[in-house]
Amino acid sequence: MNDRRGFIKLGLAGTAALVTGCITRQEDEATSGQAATTPATDGPIVLSTWKHGIPANAKAWEVLGQGGSVLDAVEQGVAVVESDLSNRSVGLGGMPDRDGKVTLDACIQDHGGRAGAVAFVQRFEHPISIARAIMERTPHVMLVGAGAERWALENGFEPRDVEIPDVRKAWNDWLKESRYQPVANIENHDTIGMIAMDASGKLAGSCTTSGMAYKVHGRVGDSPIIGAGLFVDGEVGAACATGVGELVIRTAGSHTVVELMRHGRSPEEACREAVRRIVKQNPQLEGMQVGFLALRKDGAHGAWSVFNGFNYALSTAAGQQLVDAGHDRTLTA
Ligand code: ASP
Repeated sequence: MNDRRGFIKLGLAGTAALVTGCITRQEDEATSGQAATTPATDGPIVLSTWKHGIPANAKAWEVLGQGGSVLDAVEQGVAVVESDLSNRSVGLGGMPDRDGKVTLDACIQDHGGRAGAVAFVQRFEHPISIARAIMERTPHVMLVGAGAERWALENGFEPRDVEIPDVRKAWNDWLKESRYQPVANIENHDTIGMIAMDASGKLAGSCTTSGMAYKVHGRVGDSPIIGAGLFVDGEVGAACATGVGELVIRTAGSHTVVELMRHGRSPEEACREAVRRIVKQNPQLEGMQVGFLALRKDGAHGAWSVFNGFNYALSTAAGQQLVDAGHDRTLTA
């Protein structure tokens, strides 16, 4: 697994400079027991899930710095992680399903609520760009499977065959017992979700994943589903999710977070309440992780997860940090 701890300061141009440690959320859990409210932030802000958010945010920040739109930023930011073949949970380097196929899901949404999504596609390096193209070139929101692949081919996306011996070997080893037991922070299921705001206050979000390792062929998680893995409402804010997608879909997780912010909850309180609903619905969570990340339209942000271990990359004009999310339950190694 990735080491998810680290603290990277970036220059304003987005150049990685220094790795020194990690920061935790600013709230004092012991005294307040309440979710924290981060201060509003003037100017651009980019947030994305997990440590792989660091290079993704750096790219998104660069795009914004060069005058690109916030939609360009969230697309090109997560595309960096899609192209990283050492990443086992996003893109063509991801873990396969139980039939040995790597199937990819992604979605994107803009300030005005326009959305595009693609699910259960194979052999394309950038499902996030297919999702955006579906949003911009069709009257639809989501295409899946063979139809999505055919549409992508017809619309200029080149397929790519990737064979990674270590991944093949891990799948062959897994086949011996074929036991599927998702456990928080042990199974590889670390989607990248990114939510961002540009200098003018425009929001956008993106989400892309290879889904849960060894899933049933055809399974689609929350990540490409607008309202589950991602939701953006320019009047309120944006949210994205990571973890066991079935738990997020059943609670319309990201939509829930945005609606809670609409009704006055802080970003972290909203994420915490969405987690609380999942925990309530699933008392036997048995180590299944879910994390939410939220951004309010004034730049305030927050995150919360079922278990410890979830963190996110935060980029503002002050630099870039990896921040530990608050959590409901603690897992020991
Ligand atoms: N949410 C993704 C899914 O269920 C997995 C993840 O977050 O890594 O497919």
